[in-house]
Amino acid sequence: MLVGLGYNNREKFVCGTSNMPRKNDEAGEYNIVVAYITVTGPIDPEYIVDAIQDGWNGVYQDVNGKTVTVVVNIITRENAAGRSILFRTSNDSGVTGADPMNPWVRGYCGVSIYRKYASGYEKDDELLQFSIRHEFAHVLGIGDYYAGHHNDDFPSVTSGKIGEDAIVTNKDIEMMLISFSTGQWIEWP
Ligand SMILES: [Zn+2]
Repeated sequence: MLVGLGYNNREKFVCGTSNMPRKNDEAGEYNIVVAYITVTGPIDPEYIVDAIQDGWNGVYQDVNGKTVTVVVNIITRENAAGRSILFRTSNDSGVTGADPMNPWVRGYCGVSIYRKYASGYEKDDELLQFSIRHEFAHVLGIGDYYAGHHNDDFPSVTSGKIGEDAIVTNKDIEMMLISFSTGQWIEWP
């Protein structure tokens, strides 16, 4: 399923990411996602970086029958075009989420990360890191699985379940590769 078409295209570069696929016979398909991010607010940029990389980096078996290695390289500054994915962080309560609408089309990406839910309940590290890796799925152009489905057990970081078992799966990588190859936001079928 992985195709090189569309990589490094204007939309994603404007959005602050670029992707440089290359073949690696041992590891199967090999993907590097470069994301430029800037972080405002009290949460340490390195915390954001670690949460994304811990969540997304890995070797994924059976992505449409292939083994895919994903390396997300996060750079905490603007890219050469002056663009970056903006993470607005807060220790207060609020609704964590990515900016509505297609980030590729908008030409920029934005994410709000709140340490407390709107209810005031404070996330522990596990939940906070989950929030960050979930929102990064949206940065990559992937919609919420739970938005159109009602199966918390579906293996995806975008399903309704939260916490440590809500990991990035081969299904998520499949979707990521489609969004990259098309340059479009993608909703779950
Ligand atoms: Zn979401």
